[in-house]
Amino acid sequence: MHRTKTCGELRISDAGSTVTLAGWVQRSRKMGGMTFVDLRDRYGITQLVFDSETDPELHEAANKLGREYVVQVTGKVAERSNKNPNIPTGDIEIIATGLNVLNKSDIPPFTIEDETDGGDDLRMKYRYLDLRRPAVRKNLELRHRMAFEIRRYLDSKGFLEVETPVLIKSTPEGARDFVVPSRMNPGQFYALPQSPQTFKQLLMVSGFDRYFQIVKCFRDEDLRADRQPEFTQIDCEMSFVDQEDVLEMFEGLVKHIFKYVKDIDFSEPFPRMTWADAMRLYGSDKPDTRFGMQFVELKDLTEGSGFSVMDDAKYVGAIVAPGCAGYTRKQLDKLTDFVKRPQVGAKGMMWVKYEADGSIKSSVGKFFTDEQLKGWLERGEAKPGDLMLILAGDTMKTRKQLCELRLEMGSQLGLRDPQKFSCLWVVDFPLFEWDEETQRYYAMHHPFTAPNPDDVDMLDSDTGAVRATAYDMVVNGNELGGGSIRIHDSQLQDKMFRLLGLSEEDAQYKFGFLMNAFKYGAPPHGGLAFGFDRFVSILAGLDSIRDVIAFPKNNAGRDMMIDAPSEIDDSQLDELCIKVDLEEA
Ligand code: ASP
Repeated sequence: MHRTKTCGELRISDAGSTVTLAGWVQRSRKMGGMTFVDLRDRYGITQLVFDSETDPELHEAANKLGREYVVQVTGKVAERSNKNPNIPTGDIEIIATGLNVLNKSDIPPFTIEDETDGGDDLRMKYRYLDLRRPAVRKNLELRHRMAFEIRRYLDSKGFLEVETPVLIKSTPEGARDFVVPSRMNPGQFYALPQSPQTFKQLLMVSGFDRYFQIVKCFRDEDLRADRQPEFTQIDCEMSFVDQEDVLEMFEGLVKHIFKYVKDIDFSEPFPRMTWADAMRLYGSDKPDTRFGMQFVELKDLTEGSGFSVMDDAKYVGAIVAPGCAGYTRKQLDKLTDFVKRPQVGAKGMMWVKYEADGSIKSSVGKFFTDEQLKGWLERGEAKPGDLMLILAGDTMKTRKQLCELRLEMGSQLGLRDPQKFSCLWVVDFPLFEWDEETQRYYAMHHPFTAPNPDDVDMLDSDTGAVRATAYDMVVNGNELGGGSIRIHDSQLQDKMFRLLGLSEEDAQYKFGFLMNAFKYGAPPHGGLAFGFDRFVSILAGLDSIRDVIAFPKNNAGRDMMIDAPSEIDDSQLDELCIKVDLEEA
């Protein structure tokens, strides 16, 4: 080894011992005849001292060190007179007696510190330097810890980790597939899996009983703020289970992670909420339940005032912001601007202030009596000092807008603390989603999800109202994962494909292997997948999954460091029998 100790482990009890360290020069400071160098490795930072009086030559060499030089230093551990309580090695320093430059470094394009001067693009281009920053490194350490604990929990429950193929068949449903041309089969393509869904179901048919895999998945989507074209799932499947068994097993997993990684104990069972309630009370299938402010429906109380905005609306909904009656005109205007932003899409916002002295003020005061407004406030259980914010319009759209407004108010009131965690299961999702544009049903989860047994009779007569045996785990307003009990009967699966507009030939072509497998004794089964990147980012208290991925892509799907995607040689294209026509693009 080039070293006897790391840069993070020496303490006052080591004083007097001779050690050799190796690492990167974080910075150096010259003070009189002394030069101080901070040496960094993965484990920490240790201060080195070079004294011109005791060893002028060595001191001279130390003064030539540049940032990010890789060096090996030998010296004696000594107690520091000027201790640094902010780092674990802050009580000691190394009085250097030997210095060996292992490698020089160009001046790095940004500072390798938690607060860096490097912008996003620059940091991504030099991601290997960005990863030297302790803040980024810590995220990957957390990621490792979590992956380890996930494996420990699932192994203890009898799950087997099985790898499934990365080159599979293209069966786009949901997102677009990434495709890979096959040289040996000219004109034919593999697809990269959007998830190992059908493979894990086949493993259940094979009798594996309990499967998991921490696995890369690929979806060719237009990248919204926090998506990556390749991302990691904790993918799981179990045989001979009902929904309740799956929820219990994976609630256990989430609690295990919180306990062993964050030292947070959830003693109570996670709440369950139906999809319909989540939409009614929060306007979202992934409600942020760190705070209240549930929706209050007012339509019946607003009827017949002659105020067309409310009269013409199918839905009138409100939230009560506690203690906000003092909001100024300017603050209210800002909120109105917020809901009118194209991303939110409301036409306007109404408000009622329940002043601390019990009086009432409202933007719609000329259409309603104080008595009527009081009725609204009472329904919302508002107290003097509270502010009611109201939106009106089409039911689903307005609920989504009110959801945005609620989250905004939650942020403004500091109710969305990233260090506080609120988990719940959302259950009873609809099986289908109607798409106006293509005039057909889509599977809300995926085509392999079983209908709620109580609703099977409605599959033809009331298709849109059929509930799925599907569930999502939601944490702090994020969908952490989701899954379902699967169809394990080839006839029901066939029917499902039909309802989704797949012809018999299409279904055979795309999923014949699965329907065939179901003919050979498929056990009842179900499972779920967690978004691993998201899980890590939530525990790290970060908004973006990019910060917990070692080599992420940018919003245009590019890897800025290796500069991918890129063109390929004509000879490669020829081998693949592919002609590129950019005019089409
Ligand atoms: N494969 C599903 C998904 O990626 C999860 C599941 O149903 O297990 O969303």
